[in-house]
Amino acid sequence: MHGGKAAGILWGEETRKGAGGMEQKGWPAVTVLRLADYDRERTEAAVERLFCSWPGAASLRRETKVTIKPNLLMARSPDQATTTHPAVVAAVAAALRRRGVEQITVADSPGGPYTAAALRRIYRACGMEELCGVTLNLDTAWGSRKAKPGSLAEEFHLIQPILEADVVISVGKLKTHGMTTLSGGVKNLFGCVPGLQKPELHYRYPTLDAFSQMLLDLAETVAPAFTIVDAVSAMEGNGPSGGTPRQVGLLAGSTSPFALDLVLADLIGLGVEDVATLRHSLQRGLIPRSAAQLQTDGDPYEKIADFRMPASKALDFSSHMPGPVRPLVRWLRRRVTPRPVIRRERCVGCGKCAESCPAHTIAVKEGKAVIDYRRCISCFCCHEMCPVRAIEMGRKWGRGRAED
Ligand code: SF4
Ligand code: SF4
Repeated sequence: MHGGKAAGILWGEETRKGAGGMEQKGWPAVTVLRLADYDRERTEAAVERLFCSWPGAASLRRETKVTIKPNLLMARSPDQATTTHPAVVAAVAAALRRRGVEQITVADSPGGPYTAAALRRIYRACGMEELCGVTLNLDTAWGSRKAKPGSLAEEFHLIQPILEADVVISVGKLKTHGMTTLSGGVKNLFGCVPGLQKPELHYRYPTLDAFSQMLLDLAETVAPAFTIVDAVSAMEGNGPSGGTPRQVGLLAGSTSPFALDLVLADLIGLGVEDVATLRHSLQRGLIPRSAAQLQTDGDPYEKIADFRMPASKALDFSSHMPGPVRPLVRWLRRRVTPRPVIRRERCVGCGKCAESCPAHTIAVKEGKAVIDYRRCISCFCCHEMCPVRAIEMGRKWGRGRAED
């Protein structure tokens, strides 16, 4: 049952039989449910409704190996809205157990090194140790899977529980993101790449467009059978780790992480053109131009007009310019492209930013992090991994000046 297409999952617009046996075209449906808080019974009921909307749930068997992939970016308590709430993961496990599934593994490769000690620390902080009837993965082995044809890379390195699963259920968190603007279904799958190989991919695909294309290749290669996004308490502002919790009160699910992201973006006031992964999903025929063209089931909900976006929004326009003006555009871009700014008074010199920097352009000197901007690719891995929020987003020109 592994694999989106292999499992008969509809990702793009496809023809299916409608009422009365008539053929009709349709996009994958997205179910959005109201869920005011993480009360155990209410969360289980909501997740059960999502499972009822997922045709693949009927194929689950006692022997099906399921890996749940939450967003466990770093060691943060659930109330900080940086990570998927454990109540949602527990409810997914309960829904699987009700269907007889016995082999349920919770696995993620958070930011930083992929070690058993780091995983233990993160499970504890994120409330995952309280889950019953699941295996919390501590095996840090990984392997390769051939990327789907047409991908930028030939293969992806993936953590072992993703490779071994018959079914992957991705359980992301709705957050803003300094580089990709939105983190929901697609971006959550970046955590299938082991440890510090993630910054390497940032370096290999340094522009927003290339990185977003790679994320789509990865999503199509991991091919989660079902995607749920926890938007009960979401993160707005300088996500994915430096923002603030925002009560949204929704839980959403779909067989398509791409369609789900389109609905989530629409919910928080973003269109296809605002999010590079959505732009490329549209080009690949994975989503329609607007969320209104998708079939949305579940509860009525209102869009959020004032959801705060990250202070940064990466610019990537020089490749569209004629050759002679590109140097000028690059010069201008260096001045307006968002970049990380170290707040020295908050920095505790832990070095986590340097460890995660794909360009190896951060050094800790005299107990404080220092960035050499000449090699910085504005990926914001450092911002993401700083445990004390000592890295902000600024520009050489404009608000939050970042000096060379
Ligand atoms: S900026 Fe943050 S991550 Fe980097 S050394 Fe300082 S405290 Fe650690
Ligand atoms: S300094 Fe930060 S934003 Fe720049 S390349 Fe390194 S991790 Fe990315």
